[in-house]
Amino acid sequence: MRVFLKSQPISSFRRFSTKGPPAPKDGINWEAFGFELTKTDYIYMAECKKGETFKEGKILPYGPIPMDPASSIFSYGQSLFEGLKAFRTHTGRAVVFRPWENCKRMNDGAKRMLMSTIPEEVFLDAVKKTVINNGAWIPPTGKGALYLRPVLMGNGASLGVAPSPSYTLLVYASPVGNYFKGEVKAISLLVATQHHRSAPKGTGHVKASGNYAPVFEAQKRAKDNGFSEALFLDAKEDKYVEEAGASNFFIITKDNKLITPNLGNILPGVTRETVMILAKELGYQVSEEKLDIDRALEASEAFCTGTGASITPVGSISYNGKKVVFGDGQPGKVTMQLYNTLRDIQFEKTNDIRGWLYDPYQDS
Ligand SMILES: *Cc1c(COP(=O)(O)O)cnc(C)c1O
Repeated sequence: MRVFLKSQPISSFRRFSTKGPPAPKDGINWEAFGFELTKTDYIYMAECKKGETFKEGKILPYGPIPMDPASSIFSYGQSLFEGLKAFRTHTGRAVVFRPWENCKRMNDGAKRMLMSTIPEEVFLDAVKKTVINNGAWIPPTGKGALYLRPVLMGNGASLGVAPSPSYTLLVYASPVGNYFKGEVKAISLLVATQHHRSAPKGTGHVKASGNYAPVFEAQKRAKDNGFSEALFLDAKEDKYVEEAGASNFFIITKDNKLITPNLGNILPGVTRETVMILAKELGYQVSEEKLDIDRALEASEAFCTGTGASITPVGSISYNGKKVVFGDGQPGKVTMQLYNTLRDIQFEKTNDIRGWLYDPYQDS
């Protein structure tokens, strides 16, 4: 298994190495961070011509970047993004969760959008240097994470509707708070009946920038009506659950099985895959299948998954004017078991036996 080969044996360096992140910056109120951008000190940037693959880039101070007004990202949206997090763990290390998967996904998107691809060592170089150069911005253990945002875009000028002649990879970082301050709470979802997120044979399966602005309106409609998020149905039959705007969806059935919509038009979330693996290890049956909204509404628990919010319990779903509450509307038992299992791995309360943690300070 590839990921295992990349992993670093914890015991060897915990004992013998002193290399690790610097102390968190002084004078910062880490508790105050939500998911807003806080500019950090440095960004990583690499450029590449069409038809070539990326080579290592460089670190630059955070600030505006020069762009040609005719860049194909502006007119044609030739662009992808990623999102991953660096955590300061209970052992004092800084670790990034499964960055190899983000690299693979970005390259799947690059192929779909006819963009230059990024070799894994270049992607890891970008992650490593972005973390290390902003190391004091990694929040104290348990007080959030340093969120990394890689963007791959067509920066070259083109007037006609065509792929850009050149591409930019940039990575910036922002400290973010815990999604839940204190206690974990359940969110409410509104099924979007006026909008779809992705079409069959479209780009819903890649993190293309163009997938996101079109759902702002559905998300606003949900928030304006007092819901936390919109939940999208499939575009063909308008009855199968796909996912929320930036997180995947799971239910737990009354007989304790996990069901999540199958891949195809949804974004293959790293957290989604992680949860499937962990749930199986914990002894649950897990299945990926078409999930009829009516069946979802009969679940005993539901939750969303994503790097931003990790595992978010869903307390209720509203569909066509009818609101269905799961259990007592509080975070479910199985949901919380999975939440705690994932958190303990990310913060090294349990050993990284699966090789999911990447330590940028040890990779040099
Ligand atoms: C990023 C994203 C997710 C979550 O993916 P992770 O890899 O778990 O962060 C889910 N759905 C959509 C539409 C997304 O953009």
